[in-house]
Amino acid sequence: MSEERRQWVCATLDVEGGERVAGSPTRPVSMGMAAKKKLWKPDSILRVRFLEGSPALHERVLQAASAWLVDGVRLRFAPAQRGEPAPIRIAFDPGRGSWSYIGTDCRGIHPSQPTMNLGWATLATPEHDFQSVVIHEFGHALGLLHEHNHPEALIQWNRAAVYADLEGPPNNWDREKIDHNVFARFDASTVVTTDFDKASVMIYTIPSNWTLDGKSFMPSWKLSEGDVETIRKLYS
Ligand SMILES: [Zn+2]
Repeated sequence: MSEERRQWVCATLDVEGGERVAGSPTRPVSMGMAAKKKLWKPDSILRVRFLEGSPALHERVLQAASAWLVDGVRLRFAPAQRGEPAPIRIAFDPGRGSWSYIGTDCRGIHPSQPTMNLGWATLATPEHDFQSVVIHEFGHALGLLHEHNHPEALIQWNRAAVYADLEGPPNNWDREKIDHNVFARFDASTVVTTDFDKASVMIYTIPSNWTLDGKSFMPSWKLSEGDVETIRKLYS
C-alpha cells in the first residue's frame, strides 16, 4: 500500500475565504471548504491559457484537471484561443513552487501574469504526483481552500517543526507567512463546508513531524468521495 510520492507544499497565498479567526475550535467536523464569494457562475466555460510549456504538457494538465468535471458539475475548461481572454493562466516556473489564486480572484490579476504556477509538473513527473498537484491547484482555481484552514480544523501542530521546515529552502517563508498559510483558520460564516474527508485532494501536505500526535496528511491524487460531494454542492 505504501506509495513513494513527492511531498510537495502548496504555496497558495491569497487564501482569505473571508475573515481569519484565531479561535480555538473544539469540534472535529466538516472540512471540505470553499470561498463563498469566489465561485464561478455555474455553466461557465473557464478558458485556460498556458504561458509556456509544450502542447503535450498542456494536454496532460487539462486531462488531469478534468477530474473535477464529474457528472452534474456545470463547468467546462477549454484552452483559450489566441487573443481570447482567459481567467486561468498557467506558468510552469520551477523556481516558484505550486500555487493558484482562489476562484474568481483570478479575474483581478493582470492579463500578462499567471494565476497558477505548476512548478513541479512536467512530462516526466510520475502520474500520481502530477495528478495530485494539478487537481489540487485547479481546486483552488475553482474556489476551494485548504482544509486545514477550516474554522473547526483540529490539527495538533508542532509549531516549532513547521517553522523550522518552512523558514528554510525552498519556501523561505517568514513567520507571518507561515502563520497565515498554515495556522490561520477561516471565519465559518464566509465559507461553504462539507464533511471532513482526510482523503481530499485539498488537504495540505502535513508531514508527521509537523504534528504533536504524529498524524500526517498528503493531498490525494484523485478526487475523494468528499471532493466529489463538495464540487457538486458548489457547481451543480
Ligand atoms: Zn493548495
